Amino acid sequence: SQWVYRFGGDASDGGKGMKELLGGKGANLAEMGSIGLPVPPGFTITTALCAAYYDRGEVYPSELAAQVTEGLAHIEGVVGKTFGDAADPLLVSVRSGARVSMPGMMDTVLNLGLNDETVLGLAKTSGDERFAWDSYRRFIQMYSDVVLGLDHYLFEEALEIAKEDRGVALDTELSADDWKALVADYKAKVEAELGRPFPQDAGEQLWGAIGAVFGSWKSERAKVYRKLNDIPESWGTAVNVQAMVFGNMGETSATGVAFTRDPSTGEHAYYGEYLINAQGEDVVAGIRTPQYLTKAARERAGAKAASMEEAMPETYVELAEVFDLLERHYRDMQDIEFTVQQGKLWMLQTRSGKRTAKAALKISVDMANEGLITPEEAILRVDPAALDQLLHPTLDPDAPRDVITKGLPASPGAASGAAVFDSDTAERRSGLGEDVILIRVETSPEDIHGMHAARGILTARGGMTSHAAVVARGMGRPCVSGAGSIAIDMKTRTMRVTGREVQEGDIVTIDGSTGEVMIGRVPTVQPELAGDFGRLMEWADTKRRLKVRTNAETPNDCRTARQFGAEGIGLCRTEHMFFDAARITAVREMILAEDEKGRRVALAKLLPEQRRDFTEIFEIMAGLPVTIRLLDPPLHEFLPHREEEFEEVAKSSGVGVETLRRRTAELHEFNPMLGHRGCRLGVTYPEIYEMQARAIFEAAVDVAEKSGAAVVPEVMVPLVATARELELMKAVIDRTAQAVFTERGRTLDYLVGTMIELPRAALRAKEIAGEAEFFSFGTNDLTQTALGISRDDAGRFLGDYVDKGIYAKDPFVSIDVEGVGELIEIAAERGRAARPTLKLGICGEHGGDPASIDFCEGQRLDYVSCSPYRVPIARLAAAQSAL
Ligand code: ADP
Ligand code: MG
Ligand code: MG
Repeated sequence: SQWVYRFGGDASDGGKGMKELLGGKGANLAEMGSIGLPVPPGFTITTALCAAYYDRGEVYPSELAAQVTEGLAHIEGVVGKTFGDAADPLLVSVRSGARVSMPGMMDTVLNLGLNDETVLGLAKTSGDERFAWDSYRRFIQMYSDVVLGLDHYLFEEALEIAKEDRGVALDTELSADDWKALVADYKAKVEAELGRPFPQDAGEQLWGAIGAVFGSWKSERAKVYRKLNDIPESWGTAVNVQAMVFGNMGETSATGVAFTRDPSTGEHAYYGEYLINAQGEDVVAGIRTPQYLTKAARERAGAKAASMEEAMPETYVELAEVFDLLERHYRDMQDIEFTVQQGKLWMLQTRSGKRTAKAALKISVDMANEGLITPEEAILRVDPAALDQLLHPTLDPDAPRDVITKGLPASPGAASGAAVFDSDTAERRSGLGEDVILIRVETSPEDIHGMHAARGILTARGGMTSHAAVVARGMGRPCVSGAGSIAIDMKTRTMRVTGREVQEGDIVTIDGSTGEVMIGRVPTVQPELAGDFGRLMEWADTKRRLKVRTNAETPNDCRTARQFGAEGIGLCRTEHMFFDAARITAVREMILAEDEKGRRVALAKLLPEQRRDFTEIFEIMAGLPVTIRLLDPPLHEFLPHREEEFEEVAKSSGVGVETLRRRTAELHEFNPMLGHRGCRLGVTYPEIYEMQARAIFEAAVDVAEKSGAAVVPEVMVPLVATARELELMKAVIDRTAQAVFTERGRTLDYLVGTMIELPRAALRAKEIAGEAEFFSFGTNDLTQTALGISRDDAGRFLGDYVDKGIYAKDPFVSIDVEGVGELIEIAAERGRAARPTLKLGICGEHGGDPASIDFCEGQRLDYVSCSPYRVPIARLAAAQSAL
């Protein structure tokens, strides 16, 4: 079979579509050769050979040697020199190249083919003795290091001593004789170490290097990297053997690396570095400081050393043309390696360049505007998850940071402020205009006001879907959760971590995108939402089928979500409205009341407050659909804990403190998440849902009257398991609606529907759809109930589950398609069979996760609903799924 493919010199056997066989480097060298770019000729030994070599117990197929000889003949023919010829030797580089570039693979060997005789030939034909001996010493050094396994320190030390002896600072200042002496020294060192001389035969050198590339495929470093990046061992690597071109032939020669656009900002400007009179890795090795490619970049940096644009203007123009040509050809930003030999430009590598999220966005949009790619391609090229980084303030990448610990990246964005350890202090100090970071062991619904007041939240416990994480994401507050190594001492108001201490008021910084916690203030940079971002979003909106709503209940969040493009509210959690300091007493009074009469007294106090909440939300959402979930959490979450709270409730309700304490004990539950919550509250205390329904309809009528806009409330009943539960609750809602409509002499359309968040509800979806006009999949609870894993505690062991491959991803982050997904599929199918007009949406945290959104598109749901800051991510992900 064919193990060897040629490239360069009008004979490229391969092309860019052959990465699997030729590796990325080989395929692109062939491609550049065949589109007429100056590529030194060479050949690629395929990845298939690598596999065959290992299959046969590290033996080459017999026909390989002849094919390599033919490959060499191709190079010799194009260059007009012969490999190993003492008078005029051909030199080659040996380069590894897997499908994806991979650290851990053998480093490149340059100048291969030099020995004690050919070095003299090279000196004569080039007319430059110094260059010849410099090349030889480089070769001995590289070959000994990467093929013979000798420590490069051995050679570096000798070089340093030589420079000291000569009293010079730079390699370039050494003379031909200096290099000649060093070569002798190097060779003696190799022989002393290995007990045999440095190989002089060019053929032996070549096969040694080829063998080292294939050997490095199974090196420990390569294995570790493959494991971390899911690269199969069976892929193998290719080997590229290529004629040398020399960037170290004096002042008209150079070597460099470049990006066709700025990989960190995306700016459409060439970006790169080069070095005059240098070879290969000198640019990245840091031996000499590389110079800028463009004049503009040099000026911006205030650097003195001439840019390539200035030092080699003609070659620079040629290079710039190649950049543009490669971009047009590959239709993407390219990362390029080149060498200039005595004024002649040679291309040595090109590939799609790595880039930051910001650059990815800008480059995609710019390229679509330039007509290089279509808007569809632009949409597909931006990773929705990476948008998250762009919507929040981020840490100034250049600022120093003093990292003390790392937790989970629970809610993106970065924030600095004074450390505070309770929510009341957070509220008080932020009220005085101070930025604060709220630090808690974990948060509960009672911390909402503190979380709102804080710039960021840090918790010692809790996973990615802990209370702190979910609420913080919802509010768009940066949050680091589960930072297990911090110890909080509430008495002394200090936090201790890895031997450091933070007192209340000390400035800390958290980065919710990485999980890092730092001492001191780290400056942040603000995001930009208009421009490229807005443009990409517009394109995405024309392509997607899924609607995108938001989970929001405060006016602020509603406004933020609309600004991010939300098309309605998919989940308005009414309980969040109950924690307000002005209302909590009435809420507690309602809960602790002994009978319906007592409850109704308290509820009457809450009615105007709730009506005001809904009025404001309907106004902001201006006719967009608003799904309001009736009270859901276990009542104990609202109960008083502190003595003065009991007294307050006692005063307001006229009931004794003792009685209240007894009621509190009665309401205690061992497993509240599976307890008296959701519609179970409505079943026991219909008057609660009646009050909420009344508030909704009165607000809706008010806003409809005032604005003339159509307000269509969608009333949602939580935690339904049976059709009968929903039937009972729907009766309460319908009855209340009729009452309000009669009183107000005005009717409006509304929907009654349910959350599907219990496996039983999914299975009995047919009957439930008889009562429900919409289903909203509450996938947080559905995951918790289907998997039987508590979302608040799972963080402790879910990591092991993911590591051991039990779940591919955290099922609270990305839908467990096999289990929870099947329940959704069943519910959708059975629900739609019973009611073809049934509206279907998802409102769990998964509504903002691209993989889960793709699943929702597959199920043809009507909408996804997610926290405000994830709305743009969902819009883009929905467009990608639809394309
Ligand atoms: P890596 O994958 O680590 O970038 P490469 O195989 O691209 O390794 O080689 C590194 C550098 O060596 C190249 O950027 C180039 O400067 C130099 N190099 C490789 N082959 C040649 C060659 N045939 N002629 C001149 N320089 C070369
Ligand atoms: Mg390279
Ligand atoms: Mg729920």
